[in-house]
Amino acid sequence: MKTTWTSERKCIVDGKINVSLTKYDTVEELLCEMYQTSLEDLRNSEHGGFDKDGNEHSFSFNDLIDNIKKSGCYGFTGMNNDIHYWIDNTVVTYNDLIPLFAHEIGHTVEPFYRDTMKEEIKAERYSDVAAMAYQIASKEMCI
Ligand SMILES: [Zn+2]
Repeated sequence: MKTTWTSERKCIVDGKINVSLTKYDTVEELLCEMYQTSLEDLRNSEHGGFDKDGNEHSFSFNDLIDNIKKSGCYGFTGMNNDIHYWIDNTVVTYNDLIPLFAHEIGHTVEPFYRDTMKEEIKAERYSDVAAMAYQIASKEMCI
């Protein structure tokens, strides 16, 4: 099952940021939406990604699911400022969620890069800035 809602924030530079958010009950549902395919097809697929050092890794679907569940949250942004995510509230903290949502919101903000790596680096900058802002605010608020 999934739940969709919208968020809007007025911004000085771009006027406003509008995003549609869809929360999924399971990682499997989220990944079916992400890859636009069935769970059956995903179970037989190989997956890959990059670590923070830019090294490429490949892994099975089960490994992907296990790693996502251990992290407690995962998300992606579609072509229409639609952010899709899954969260395990028993695992995650603000320190996990703020960078996740900042990264995904970063994908909705111009400029948009066709080069996937450049786009991911841009989104990570939003993530890093938000994480740092949360860290400073938490210290000031004694959280
Ligand atoms: Zn991204």
